[in-house]
Amino acid sequence: MDRRISRLTALFCAILLFSSLFTGCQASSGTGDYSRFTRRATNVFDTEIMLSGFAVSEEAFNRVADEVIRRLNEYNQIFDGYNPYGEMHNLYYINQHAAQAPVEIPDELFQLLSWCRGKWDEGLKAVNPAMGAVLSIWHDYRTAGTEDPANAQLPPMEQLTAANAHTDFACVILNAEQKTVYYADPLLKIDVGAVAKGYAADLIRDYLMTEMPSFLLSLGGNVYAGAAPMDGRSAWAVAVQDPRADLLNGSNGSDRLDVLDIASLSAVTSGDYWRFYYVDGQRYHHIIDPETLMPSRAMQSVTIVCESSLLADYLSTTLFICSIEEGSALIASLDGVEAMWVLPDGTIRYSPGMRAYSRALKAGD
Ligand code: ADP
Ligand code: MG
Repeated sequence: MDRRISRLTALFCAILLFSSLFTGCQASSGTGDYSRFTRRATNVFDTEIMLSGFAVSEEAFNRVADEVIRRLNEYNQIFDGYNPYGEMHNLYYINQHAAQAPVEIPDELFQLLSWCRGKWDEGLKAVNPAMGAVLSIWHDYRTAGTEDPANAQLPPMEQLTAANAHTDFACVILNAEQKTVYYADPLLKIDVGAVAKGYAADLIRDYLMTEMPSFLLSLGGNVYAGAAPMDGRSAWAVAVQDPRADLLNGSNGSDRLDVLDIASLSAVTSGDYWRFYYVDGQRYHHIIDPETLMPSRAMQSVTIVCESSLLADYLSTTLFICSIEEGSALIASLDGVEAMWVLPDGTIRYSPGMRAYSRALKAGD
């Protein structure tokens, strides 16, 4: 856990370094009447949150930032499959009750599950939110192995295989008129960890576009860059972390592989360095290949840039599991979506349109 925090901190330092660092709510110069302010928070979505934006006053910024944190806390509760919040019909409650009878669910969760189901129906199966039964076993073993590293273990394959018999998304019955969900399989569980932060970022983006359009929002590996910063630059600078930065030798190594200059776009990274534990010296991370039921070994990290943070979050997890060939074909079939892959041997690959954002690619021109 400490390692994760230190990785997150490194990412934040990188982001902030490249977009100028201002602590707390201090203002920096902007154009006209606008100054830049920054707010950070922890413990929402089990990650570090950073909101930076241009506002007319500290009061104006604080009002917006307070509301952003309030909304993020609410989304975090709705999408939390591991903890109850009173009688709230959050994911934990739904996982406990939806096999007995249809349960009314919050609109945000209904929209998110319907969106994921659309992708599933298109034939994309690498990200399966109905895989909760398998993912919760990994979650429990990872938690135990993090708390007691000397006795860390891998989940037995028989247990994973047995749980995998209860992961059919078709058994999740969504009723759009009633806004309910029903599980036709009593052992099925939902986990929206692969897409929740992206969807939350889109919802916050919608709010910020009317309240503080020039913003940079970071939810761990999920970044949303709003309208261009009001300090003369045409884009926000977002660092892409080196997945093996913790294996480099201190100051000899760089924490980042690239910097992306983006505005009115989201950049989302899925990597094997966010959440993991060690068993017998081997690192086991949190993105599970539905074919093998083991952590995917296809990539070190995948970063997606596109307008929708939900799509970027979904695709970064999907491409993390797919081969480079499958992933490239998928990206080529989508308009306005670009990708950067870090392969298992550290090789970096870009989709052609990434040239518009990547400083590393521009430097090589
Ligand atoms: P992060 O949580 O670090 O932002 P991702 O967006 O890639 O990373 O999502 C990883 C999370 O998604 C895991 O913690 C787990 O909850 C869930 N997950 C892992 N593998 C799958 C999968 N194959 N299908 C659906 N959800 C998954
Ligand atoms: Mg994701």
